[in-house]
Amino acid sequence: MTRFVGHGRGEVTTAEELVPVDAHLQAILDSLPGQDAIELTVIDALGLVLGADVVGHTTLPPFANAAMDGYAVVADDLVGATVEQPVRLPVVGEVVAGAQSTPEVTPGRVVRIMTGAPLPRGADAVVPVETTSGSDGQIAFHRAVEAGAHVRLPGEDLEPGQVLLRAGRRVQPADVGLLSAAGVARVLCVPPPRVVVLSSGDELVQATREPGPGQIRDSNGPMLASMVRAAGGIPFTSGIVPDDRKALMYAFDTNLGHADLFVCTGGASAGTRDLLPDVIGAMGEVHTAKVAMRPGMPQIRGLIGGTPVIGLPGNPVSAFVSFEVFVRPAIRRLQGRRDMARPVVTARATEDLRGAANKRHFVRVRLARENDGWTATPTGAQGSHLLSSISAADGLAVVPEHVEVIAAGDHVRVQVLVEG
Ligand code: AMP
Ligand code: MG
Repeated sequence: MTRFVGHGRGEVTTAEELVPVDAHLQAILDSLPGQDAIELTVIDALGLVLGADVVGHTTLPPFANAAMDGYAVVADDLVGATVEQPVRLPVVGEVVAGAQSTPEVTPGRVVRIMTGAPLPRGADAVVPVETTSGSDGQIAFHRAVEAGAHVRLPGEDLEPGQVLLRAGRRVQPADVGLLSAAGVARVLCVPPPRVVVLSSGDELVQATREPGPGQIRDSNGPMLASMVRAAGGIPFTSGIVPDDRKALMYAFDTNLGHADLFVCTGGASAGTRDLLPDVIGAMGEVHTAKVAMRPGMPQIRGLIGGTPVIGLPGNPVSAFVSFEVFVRPAIRRLQGRRDMARPVVTARATEDLRGAANKRHFVRVRLARENDGWTATPTGAQGSHLLSSISAADGLAVVPEHVEVIAAGDHVRVQVLVEG
């Protein structure tokens, strides 16, 4: 049996006890409830996933209109027109975009027309003004034109009854344009999940306060709340909760009504004040796991009143990395999104990257361009309390579970953290 020292807590973890990262993630994803779709205006739907097909009821363009500024003509009139022998025709009127009535075009006569203006009755083509000459009501046409030229036909873009966007589609700005053109004002979409962030620990004070002896500022609360927002969720914070059974229960209880997901930090492992597993177990269902990753080994997942709970270790780097690995995908799944993982680039390691004995090692790295590719350089010491090392990181380089070392010069896969 392989034995090695655990997560800096002096306990010994056997390789067999470790839960694979992907298994823990899958168990979390499997525990997530489906989200009911809500109706939102198309602008508010931007970035959200549609909960139902959107069917249009309009014809677009709604009427035949000019694609260019020029002359509405009868194409047959211009047969045989050349630069040497232009066809000259009188202009009998003008039609602009927004016109509610149009002059009629009859053979041998043309009408001046602007882009978007309705095509006059009798005309079957538009000749761009740039290809004509003359004024004073007599225009010279220098070439023949095909019937239908520069005319936008009704229904070319959309027909009534057409599915404009499919359920599951994430609404893009162009979709908002399409929906608006079709007169669709509101759509059903999956709402952003409300995520309650709960920081627990007797040593914590609000980040805006001066810590007393033995105290530290709560950095996880604000950090995780902003990670929730960056992942597309709506963060709420429960405030700081002391390491006390009743206080923890009260915090869960009072936040349950507006939580689609709880994310907790601190109190997750084996210390005498690590009460979270107990409390979650008492209020619902809990699974603790030593997950095969570094940092972030002790993990909790559970359910309280049907609401999923994810418990992360308190060390800020462990909390950050395990949020990336477990919580971000969960938040995106709750949004109905299929793209749950970060983009990955392959980079050349500029230093040896050590493995972590049977665990997946996430190394905080800076990415830099090199010729056509990237280099990955560790941001410094990798202690799981070193916030400056995550702040400086562009990505997490992944040293797989059974790799001892990725040598300097070799390639490593890096999950890119930088938000677009
Ligand atoms: P715990 O998981 O409660 O054993 O905490 C592990 C380490 O993370 C300890 O050094 C805690 O002081 C620290 N820690 C726990 N929660 C927070 C937090 N919200 N902000 C900053 N550090 C924390
Ligand atoms: Mg603690």
